[in-house]
Amino acid sequence: MDTATTDDAPTSPRETGEPLVELRTVNKHFGALHVLQNIELTVHHGEVVVVIGPSGSGKSTLCRAINRLETIDDGEITVDGIPLPEEGKALAHLRADVGMVFQSFNLFSHKTVLDNVTLGPRKVRGVPKAQAESEAMALLERVGVESQAHKMPAQLSGGQQQRVAIARALAMRPKVMLFDEPTSALDPEMVNEVLDVMVALAREGMTMIVVTHEMGFARKAADRVVFMADGQIVEEAEPDEFFTNARTERARDFLSKIL
Ligand code: ADP
Ligand code: MG
Repeated sequence: MDTATTDDAPTSPRETGEPLVELRTVNKHFGALHVLQNIELTVHHGEVVVVIGPSGSGKSTLCRAINRLETIDDGEITVDGIPLPEEGKALAHLRADVGMVFQSFNLFSHKTVLDNVTLGPRKVRGVPKAQAESEAMALLERVGVESQAHKMPAQLSGGQQQRVAIARALAMRPKVMLFDEPTSALDPEMVNEVLDVMVALAREGMTMIVVTHEMGFARKAADRVVFMADGQIVEEAEPDEFFTNARTERARDFLSKIL
């Protein structure tokens, strides 16, 4: 039964938004390993897509390809209709448009929290120091770590560091945010403080691609779940549908192991 066409069905960004990130028949090999196989994916403005799947299925490679931290063998990736630039200033701007948050925080360890957040806007966007700092303080406040602004990253907890990493990406005013298992390296008691920031971001309309196995986040914030296995997108569905009624054996098998 398909109820998606009833008049009172909520409209998702997928139905209303313009495409923002598009992958067309993307293939990538690492030597003999076909790590991305004919990937077709469109993420619309304002859409939140959660990518899940077994370890080694290609999720990180997919994220890294969208940010051009990895090249692809063939196919096309566009952000806001523009193919990914190869190098130089254009690439720096692409990386500003596509914010990325990694599992391992990746803050500059020898710079203060505030400098971590202001560096990109100053260097890439040419924002004056005072303006960059006042914007950074507002972002640090938004993620709840403004009191840590003048500390070094190592003085912060993992959850605080990851929230700084989110603020740092947001400082570039990205069009889309990629999160690659942002809570996997955190102690359990710090997971929610990071997920709460991400849920708030989603509700504010940020376009997001989130690799995570946090089902609570997916149910609260995702418009769509994409299930990857062995370099392929095996299944896509709305979260409730996917978690209760996955269509493929691969997905059901995976869910039985993590739920
Ligand atoms: P996931 O994030 O889903 O766990 P990855 O995208 O990290 O998967 O990796 C997919 C596969 O590609 C794995 O088998 C991994 O070992 C391999 N891989 C990842 N990066 C490289 C690399 N730079 N060189 C060779 N193999 C790689
Ligand atoms: Mg990964």
